[in-house]
Amino acid sequence: MTLSLNFGTDYASARALFLEACRQRGLSVQSRQHPDAKGPIGEDLFMDVARIGPENADGVLFITSATHGTEGITGSGVQMATLKSTLAEELPNGVALVFVHAINPYGFAHLSRTNEDNIDLNRNFVDFSAPLPENDPYDTIHPFIVPADWQGPEREAAEREIKSYIDRHGEKKLQAVLLEGQYTQPDGLFYGGASPSWSNRQWTEIVAAEGKGARHLAILDVHTGIGPKGYGEPIYVGVDSGFGRARSWFGDDVTNAGKGKSHASEFKGPMVSALWDKHPNAEHTAIVLEFGTRPLTQVLSALRADNWLRFHPDVDKNQHRKIKQDLRDALYVDNEDWRLQIWQRSRQLIERGLAGLANTIK
Ligand SMILES: [Zn+2]
Repeated sequence: MTLSLNFGTDYASARALFLEACRQRGLSVQSRQHPDAKGPIGEDLFMDVARIGPENADGVLFITSATHGTEGITGSGVQMATLKSTLAEELPNGVALVFVHAINPYGFAHLSRTNEDNIDLNRNFVDFSAPLPENDPYDTIHPFIVPADWQGPEREAAEREIKSYIDRHGEKKLQAVLLEGQYTQPDGLFYGGASPSWSNRQWTEIVAAEGKGARHLAILDVHTGIGPKGYGEPIYVGVDSGFGRARSWFGDDVTNAGKGKSHASEFKGPMVSALWDKHPNAEHTAIVLEFGTRPLTQVLSALRADNWLRFHPDVDKNQHRKIKQDLRDALYVDNEDWRLQIWQRSRQLIERGLAGLANTIK
């Protein structure tokens, strides 16, 4: 069987594949429908949850997809391939595997990285009752990251400003300022929101219920768009004392975002933090699994275009289609070699995660 059969071409086909695979495994699926948001042809949107393993598991491994909408094509493919593999048949004693399909169904359905309110869900898990993180450098570059027009003189002027910024500060600095996240520009990139989003509240409830009673919670949250093409970087998120354990489970190439050899930057408000917010007395091993697709300049340009489109929806159909296709191409490499790399790496890390959990709860 070719791997492409596990990768939907869009949200609707990916969800249909996921539901069918769960049915074939005899798994019940808990579907949480979005109360307001709809897909591009008015279809209903859901976050779906399926669990394999005992109810009172001591160790739980979550595998999550589409925290960043568009990236769900890959995350969903990984979930599908896992469901169809022997991994789903041979869980260690006391360990459960929980799939959460489409954390951000709106973004997945509309091929946007952000949700229905342009919120980056991996920046949305901050304490909104406290002063929000500040990112003054982002405020400075915001006007040319999101120019008033995506074609013509406004865009050209914005590109000149970006080039000048990179000449002065370097590309790494631009990446760090952007990816850190921001809470002041709702029409900007990497916007963390002003309150917990629908997806945040659903995911938090799922973690509370599925992790109940477990002594150790782990997660692989699947992403794309950062790092060398086809490489899967396991990025540890959590308190420093857990980093050594994450390396002993998953390998020496586990990184800490923004440090050492990591291709990723530091950021605030990750969705994996629901694990320790809901289960402060358990141990946690959280990994953002980031698969490289295209050069970062291409990814950022596609994200900027899609962000511009969000606030200029009246563009002609061809421009709309091109911006969406460019973003899809930037975050997903549509060939079998790439999918094979993604699945082999995912399989390896899931195996290691399950083994790590089995050892730690022994
Ligand atoms: Zn992502």
